[in-house]
Parts: sequence; structure tokens; C-alpha cells
Amino acid sequence: MLLKGKEVANQIKEEIAKEVQSIVSKGVRPPHLVAVLVGEDGASKTYVKNKELACEKVGFSSTLVRLPDTTSEEELLAKIEEINNDDEIDGLIVQLPLPKHISEHNITQAINPAKDVDGFHDVSVGRLSKGQDTFISATPYGITQLLDRYNIETKGKHCVVVGRSNIVGRPMSILMSGSNKTGNATVTICHRHTVDLKKYTVMADILIVAVGIPEFITADMVKEGATVIDVGITRVDADNKKGYVLKGDVNFDQVEEVAGYITPVPGGVGPMTIIGLMQNTLKSHQAKFNV
Ligand code: NAP
Repeated sequence: MLLKGKEVANQIKEEIAKEVQSIVSKGVRPPHLVAVLVGEDGASKTYVKNKELACEKVGFSSTLVRLPDTTSEEELLAKIEEINNDDEIDGLIVQLPLPKHISEHNITQAINPAKDVDGFHDVSVGRLSKGQDTFISATPYGITQLLDRYNIETKGKHCVVVGRSNIVGRPMSILMSGSNKTGNATVTICHRHTVDLKKYTVMADILIVAVGIPEFITADMVKEGATVIDVGITRVDADNKKGYVLKGDVNFDQVEEVAGYITPVPGGVGPMTIIGLMQNTLKSHQAKFNV
């Protein structure tokens, strides 16, 4: 069965839009998200554009700050400081990757944790690790909500996460092992030094893959009836108008035959990631206005 992230995301967007209408009807300004984009990376431009469109759809204000790729780290830090101090802004994201001369660590740590709607600040990550209320990074947050909306049981299940990045695999493993509603799973986390990866993936009741290698997971690596969440999105050259197609980390045609549930690419995890961001921005606004 398909886990239709796009459909669920549209449903949640409608719910958020209703909340925004209620906020505005009380005379309070809507949530405001600012995205900073440095340079001209094609994929980053698309991601930021999609985030702006989602804001528009739910009734948030959004501002895109575009800076040239010659921007220095000091200039970017000054811009972040300005946004941190602006009470009219609830959420701030700096689109990654940044040009090589700028430290991503220094930038993510400069964001006010109260506006860290991407959940990349050490304070957010630390709170997540301790099971405290915080901004959860958008992709893992979106995935837990997809599991929740499809009533997929996680308690007592074996969840295998392939990939340990700070934005997907690691926080995902923390959430799945936490004592929250879509947690309480026994978690195995795999990476490029895992010996005999298949030995672990075939044990998974819930298999979450975030490696960035197209069609990496094949049918023989998946247990019959497993829930398979494909986070990967890679542009693969193709003879079409765009010149590329988007491929996930899972060989969909093969694995669909074995899995109980599976996310498509595109239309699975991607739209849910944007939902995570919208919900974090709403949460930041609520913390300020309590309406
Ligand atoms: P990343 O930072 O490159 O991390 C990839 C992870 O995969 C690393 O932990 C790496 O292990 C592991 N890995 C690489 N080769 C492996 C192998 N042969 N066997 C086992 N593990 C291996 O990537 P990311 O930021 O997590 O993103 C992963 C994918 O998800 C990308 O395609 C990205 O575009 C996509 N993505 C999608 C969304 C969305 O909204 N749908 C959001 C974020 C990312 P090591 O740590 O040992 O190097």
C-alpha cells in the first residue's frame, strides 16, 4: 500500500490554514517564516520556492532573502542577527548547502533557538535527544506524522534506519526509539561501515532509508510486509524535457512487491518535510502569542 505523503500533506495544510484563519480572526498577525538562500544552487532554489508556496497556501507570511554566493560568513551572520532580533519573524531557515567558504556549523548555531524551525541548532538536537519538547528537524518530524496518519504501529517494532546524517538519519533514530506516540521501537542505525547491511535491513519491520544512492535498497533486502520509508531524492539524468528524473534510495518497482507500506518518490517524504517546517513555524508563533 502506498503511503501518500502528498495527500496527507494537503490534508494537514488545510488544518493549518484553518488555525491561521482563527489566529487572524483574533486580530493577531499570521506566522512569518524567513528563508535565506545563498548562491544559485538549482535544487536549493526549488526547495525554497516550494516552501514559499506552502506558506502561501496555509496563510503564513514568508520572506525570501537572497544573497550572492560571494557573501562572507560575517555578512551572513549579521543578516541572521538582524532576523533573530525581529519580533515580526517566527521562523528562520538558512537553506543548505552553503558555499564552501561558509561554515554550516557556525551558521546553524547562530540562529536563535526560539526561531530554529529547521531544528538544526544544538539546543534543538539536545532537547530532542532528551525527549524534551523542541523543534524537530522537518524530515523526521514529517515521517513520524505520516506513520501516525496511517496508524502504523511502531511500539515494540524493529526499526532499521540506513544513514546517520544530522538532518535525517540520526534524529529519525532518536524519535523512533523515544517514548513518544510514534516511537517505542527498537532501533538499529546503519551507515557506510555497517558490515553486511542486508542482515539488518531484512530484520526491519520499519525500514527508513536516507543515503542518497538511487535504488540502493532492492527487494531481497526487505522483509515481507515491512513499512518502507524512502527519504532519498536524487536527480538522475534522463532524456526528457527537464533532463532528469527524481529517484529514491529504494528500488520502488521491486520493493513495492514485498513491502506492506511504501512511500513513493516523489510524493512521499518530500511533501511531509514541508509540513514539518510549517508546523514548527506555527509552534514558534504559538509560543509567542498563545492564541
Ligand atoms: P548525507 O548527509 O549524505 O548522509 C548519507 C548517509 O548515508 C550517511 O550517514 C552515510 O554513512 C550513509 N551511507 C552512504 N553510503 C552508504 C552505504 N553504502 N551503506 C550504508 N550507509 C551509507 O545525506 P542526507 O542529508 O541524510 O540525505 C540522504 C538522502 O535524502 C539524499 O538523497 C537527500 O537528497 C534526501 N533528502 C530528502 C529529504 C526530503 O525531504 N525528502 C530531506 C533531506 C534529505 P556515513 O555517515 O558512514 O558516511
